[in-house]
Amino acid sequence: MDLPDYAIEAKGLFKTYAATKTTPEMQALKGIDLAIPRGSIFGLLGPNGAGKSTFINILSGLCRKTSGSVSIWGRDIDERPRDARAAIGVVPQEIAADPFFTPFEALEVAAGMYAVPKSERRTMELLTALGLADKSKAYVRQLSGGMKRRLMVAKAMVHNPPVLILDEPTAGVDVELRRQLWAYVVELNRKGVTIVLTTHYLEEAQELCDQIAIINRGQVVACEPTTTLLARMDTRKVLVTPEEPQTTAPVLKGFETLLLPSGGFSVSYRTGQSSVEQVLAAIRSAGLHIKDISTEDPDLEDVFVSLTYAAPEPVGA
Ligand code: ADP
Repeated sequence: MDLPDYAIEAKGLFKTYAATKTTPEMQALKGIDLAIPRGSIFGLLGPNGAGKSTFINILSGLCRKTSGSVSIWGRDIDERPRDARAAIGVVPQEIAADPFFTPFEALEVAAGMYAVPKSERRTMELLTALGLADKSKAYVRQLSGGMKRRLMVAKAMVHNPPVLILDEPTAGVDVELRRQLWAYVVELNRKGVTIVLTTHYLEEAQELCDQIAIINRGQVVACEPTTTLLARMDTRKVLVTPEEPQTTAPVLKGFETLLLPSGGFSVSYRTGQSSVEQVLAAIRSAGLHIKDISTEDPDLEDVFVSLTYAAPEPVGA
């Protein structure tokens, strides 16, 4: 069979949660179009409540879409739900592991649920790949948080899916374990597994993902290769230490300013529209004396803020 161009393709995807006695109707997804290229490490970024989990839950079958179409590995989730779901492994946000199983047993049970024949199971291989081989016979309750998290990744991979989805995988995981987890994810990707990662760790997405979609209030506000997204961002920041520490951000004509904890402040400007020279002139004409300045390149945080800031929440929405 020909391999699909896109690991996941969503078109005009809507999800409305019905009103309950205590909550009004909620339009969580408002026409999502997303095409996730096969072989990529794809970042799905967005603030809390953006709709990321709703999207993932529709893919995994936990949540029913209201309208639109979704295919996973070229298989439509309405027409071929079982085949579509067999193509993804999902690592959920929450650690949900049975404390009375050993990691070895937990993987065997998971493989059984996916009806993977005994001869095709890769239980020890997965445990080894995730650094859990020496814990294969320990009880899950004896594992550290990071080990449990890695076990969740192994469980999501028992049926050898071509697409792995990690939902906020590093929340509460320390730096060292994060690095280990990423090393394995990158390794899987090298072997051809498409990775979809939801996160609000912007620097992580920036580092790992070759393409990023930003979701805000149920809509895709940007979807491009990471480098294009960063290049598109022409906002620069000047960090200013004034002679006199400030208690409020100074008002500078034509520029956005932000007070820093040090008593200094930052000034943002757009390279196409103004220059550092003009920033300095505005500071001087506000009667401030500069002790020191430095500049900062934009990171995804800036891109994110500028994209999501562009569409303020309508009053009463
Ligand atoms: P994210 O994962 O980006 O934080 P979610 O998909 O969890 O966003 O939520 C999107 C919106 O849908 C939020 O406003 C949230 O409150 C709402 N929502 C999520 N799940 C439900 C549910 N089961 N019932 C009603 N509203 C929900």
